[in-house]
Amino acid sequence: MSPIEQVIREMIGIEGPMRLDRYMSLCLGHPVHGYYMSRDPLGEKGDFITAPEISQTFGELIAIWCVGAWAAMGSPAAFNLVELGPGRGTLMADILRTVRKAAPAFASAALVQLVETSPVLRQRQRDALEGQARWHDSLDDVPDGPMILVANEFFDALPIRQFEKWQGRWHERVMGLEDGGLTIGLAPIDLAPLGTDGDVIESAPVRNRIAEDIGFRLARNPGAALIVDYGHLVSAPGDTLQAMRGHRYVSLTESPGDCDLTSHVDFEALAKGFRAGGATAWPAITQRAFLLAMGLEQRIARLASRSEPATRAVLERQMRRLAAEDQMGNLFKVMAATSPGLATTYPFGST
Ligand code: SAH
Repeated sequence: MSPIEQVIREMIGIEGPMRLDRYMSLCLGHPVHGYYMSRDPLGEKGDFITAPEISQTFGELIAIWCVGAWAAMGSPAAFNLVELGPGRGTLMADILRTVRKAAPAFASAALVQLVETSPVLRQRQRDALEGQARWHDSLDDVPDGPMILVANEFFDALPIRQFEKWQGRWHERVMGLEDGGLTIGLAPIDLAPLGTDGDVIESAPVRNRIAEDIGFRLARNPGAALIVDYGHLVSAPGDTLQAMRGHRYVSLTESPGDCDLTSHVDFEALAKGFRAGGATAWPAITQRAFLLAMGLEQRIARLASRSEPATRAVLERQMRRLAAEDQMGNLFKVMAATSPGLATTYPFGST
């Protein structure tokens, strides 16, 4: 039994069944045994791989977007360049490398602020960025001021609650013990009598709170945020909670603390959070649409023209992974939030 399973069983033994958001935060963020706290889960040998780890072009194109946002903010001489959940630091390293070449004034104005809870990943980030950043446990600790914020595959890792309609009434899905093993059960709860039996709906209180905080910051100071994650454009019922280990889906209760737990991001709820804080939320588009509009094909062609045939094939494959409709291209969405009245947010449509 994993150490975190032991902890969770004891808690359930004392307090009774546990909400899934608590289960998720313990599995992922327990200070000693949590999944992210004790390992680097990224890469081909890890449990999952992310866009910045697939291709440097991902960070390069996001860098170009950031420079556009900075110009629209009036090119402030100092601003916070914030990243939430930077993983190995690859995205930020690619952004900084790009702007040092293409927009040196942006590069010298940027104060890099990383929000990361994992000591293991902080160390990876320190190595990738040669220490040129400040680290925070939470967005609450990032100083106020003009800001450009990026987050890739951060919001999917935040804890969620799930509700299920069963026998005509709503229940919260909770983790309990049955026959000595972790089992999901249902606890009655008062919710509006909508929906039909079997419906599962999700809510992400932490995600909403962070979106609202980003919105507050953008309302107070000039700024822009770019959120990339897998998820859906419109709120809809559905169980999207998943556990992943070694690039395979496993059961939620299999070896807690050793599997990545994530859920799909509801971009409609995210937009509501940004607006509740006072920011403008732009309609989300697919990662495919975003990357193509920012010049993915041209960038890949440019890299290919300087490469051997074998490398060209690799570049072609990377582009497909990021943008093809049957790969990450459609499942992943990109949403921008900005200070109200910010002049440009290409390639997002009008609000
Ligand atoms: N953005 C990176 C990593 C994605 S994995 C990439 O695209 O490769 C999720 C990241 O969020 C990890 O760095 C993890 O340690 C961090 N994380 C998860 N929950 C967090 C929380 N509550 N606060 C801060 N960071 C968190």
